[in-house]
Amino acid sequence: MSEFSALKPGATIGILGGGQLARMLALAAARLGLKCHVYAPEPDSCAFGVVRRATLAEYDDEASLARFAEEVDVITYEFENVPSDTAAFLSSRKPVLPDPAVLATTQDRLIEKDFIASLGIPTAPYAAITTVGDIKTATGKIGLPAVLKTRRFGYDGKGQVKIGAKDDPARAWRALGEAPCILEGFVSFAREVSVVAARGMDGEVVSFDITENEHTDHILKYSRVPAKVSAPVAKDGRRIAQAIAEALNYVGTLAVELFVVKDAKGERLLVNEIAPRVHNSGHWTIDGATVSQFEQHIRAVAGWPLGKPIRRGKIEMINLIGAEIDGYARWLDVPNAYLHNYGKPAARPGRKMGHVTKVMPEIADAPDAKVARKAKPKAKPKGRR
Ligand code: AMP
Repeated sequence: MSEFSALKPGATIGILGGGQLARMLALAAARLGLKCHVYAPEPDSCAFGVVRRATLAEYDDEASLARFAEEVDVITYEFENVPSDTAAFLSSRKPVLPDPAVLATTQDRLIEKDFIASLGIPTAPYAAITTVGDIKTATGKIGLPAVLKTRRFGYDGKGQVKIGAKDDPARAWRALGEAPCILEGFVSFAREVSVVAARGMDGEVVSFDITENEHTDHILKYSRVPAKVSAPVAKDGRRIAQAIAEALNYVGTLAVELFVVKDAKGERLLVNEIAPRVHNSGHWTIDGATVSQFEQHIRAVAGWPLGKPIRRGKIEMINLIGAEIDGYARWLDVPNAYLHNYGKPAARPGRKMGHVTKVMPEIADAPDAKVARKAKPKAKPKGRR
């Protein structure tokens, strides 16, 4: 990366993937005077709607990839399953950030877990599964219940099956297409949290406040900040995110998803997975912090210094999933609610269509509060109207 010099306003960032993450990255870039060129194979990509330059082509279309690389100054991505050939092809032409080597680690749950363990960071117990017989051996060590997960291409609970004491492991194995898997011990967590952090080209790591996440049907529904965890656990979450970002030599925003486990010894964290990209649990930072996860990512890949985010209050982010987007108007007159509609054409069930961030300023502490109180007009004395 030594040849990389910081982008100047007017430069163009190429983004692979055209979903809401690319859209919000492009909006953040635009505010900073940087342009984005989105490359995606889906004609209805919602990021196309906010950029001037877009390429609609497959990820193995080398002519289109070469043209795209020609037209941009740096390339980033909004999803972790960028094919390795695509990443290699592009990185021979333009800098790709985060480095595609990160994808090789995070695209495979086994490699990812081994990497996390190599840093001395705790995860649920796990084992590699390549035959149905391995499941029996692994459950003998790990115990039941357990979760069988495909090593690749799992998301939002897809590609995973819980195995209880009465379940037939062979059935779970078949349900996942007999693909290479890992078996994880089932964690009876007290809560799920995540740490979204960014690492700049200069190696500085800046993390956002640890966020508490609630899922419905395996899809993130609510993120709340501050998370209900002790100060040492919050600090440990930041330490873990920083250690991972540094070990990956990461440039950009990433998220670490964690389980909070409570036992007789107190609260502790286990890493569930790493998302090498901006993350749904960081959407609150657009309206709820002075610098968003999207801006941090753009700053990092542009070679700019990271911002120092200050949270604007107590936050709740609500995902609008499927037809919930049709009720968008109810949010328009809710004080302190910021509506985001990703502009996707079809509200299919389970599809993330938008989100709302509710920012509840902690009035007593807000510097503006005193001013607001002073400025409030006094009621006129009766009889003088
Ligand atoms: P993942 O695709 O690994 O992020 O898993 C999706 C969701 O499944 C997580 O957010 C958890 O709610 C649940 N989950 C995943 N792994 C485990 C586990 N080992 N124990 C308990 N719940 C899990």
